[in-house]
Amino acid sequence: MFETFSAPGRFYKGNLHTHSTRSDGRLDPEEVCRLYRERGYDFLCLSDHFLEAYKFPLTDTRAYRTEAFTTLIGAELHAPATHLGELWHILAVGLPLDFATTSEGEDGSALARRAAAAGAFVGIAHPQWYGLDASDGLALDVAHAVEIYNHTCEMLSARPDGVTLFDHLLTEGRQLTGFASDDAHFHADDAFGGWVHVKSETLDPEALLLALKAGHYYASQGPEILSVERDGDKLLVTCSPARSIVLAGRGSKSKVMHGDGIAEARFDLSAFAGFWCRLVVTGLDGKRAWAQPERHA
Ligand SMILES: [Zn+2]
Repeated sequence: MFETFSAPGRFYKGNLHTHSTRSDGRLDPEEVCRLYRERGYDFLCLSDHFLEAYKFPLTDTRAYRTEAFTTLIGAELHAPATHLGELWHILAVGLPLDFATTSEGEDGSALARRAAAAGAFVGIAHPQWYGLDASDGLALDVAHAVEIYNHTCEMLSARPDGVTLFDHLLTEGRQLTGFASDDAHFHADDAFGGWVHVKSETLDPEALLLALKAGHYYASQGPEILSVERDGDKLLVTCSPARSIVLAGRGSKSKVMHGDGIAEARFDLSAFAGFWCRLVVTGLDGKRAWAQPERHA
């Protein structure tokens, strides 16, 4: 979705996946919001575990909004069962505060559908961490996005990735985007490692939610993607100093520009004709930024 970069508005930085004392996080909601605000984030979604054990929390963070910082209401939803027989972890950003509790017999697919119908941006959380496979990814048919980087899964279990599932689902024809998040619980050094930059004309929760659902955002661990200009088959990318700028596509298809601190790359999109491609910038420190996939006719 290269149009994101020429769309009106500016980029707002936010974390979509975080926990507080309303479920298994260490800090209370006000403190978590304060830490992200002071770190320079524009918005946060507190996504506590929507489980009976925590009395089905939908953490209300509206009181912590300021002129320059807002919050989205959301939760991490759980229901049976992935192909390995584990509870699903489904991120739902933009839920109504009266979202009904889960009931016996509601499986992950049904729960995801109910969240999407209630207006949420639905994300397939940390696929690598709990061994999701292609059948799981296909079962969540209403998902908007895959979590392609989860910082807590990096720090605590060395399994942060969602790219394999993401690429598989894209090749299957699914219209998905990819987000990075912290999933911070503040029991460890698990915050401020993965986020999204959402293109919006205002810092209004509804506007941010619409932009997320439309795919008008990119994910990052640090690098910035400054501009993406397309003219027919020609693509010009500018970014913060990088060691590589990659266009990745179906199967083994990819194109790369690399160097010591390159900040610009030109690509010919004709190699991706008929399929999807997506842009990945890797900084000099190995940290990445991921733009959303583009379907190339
Ligand atoms: Zn989580």
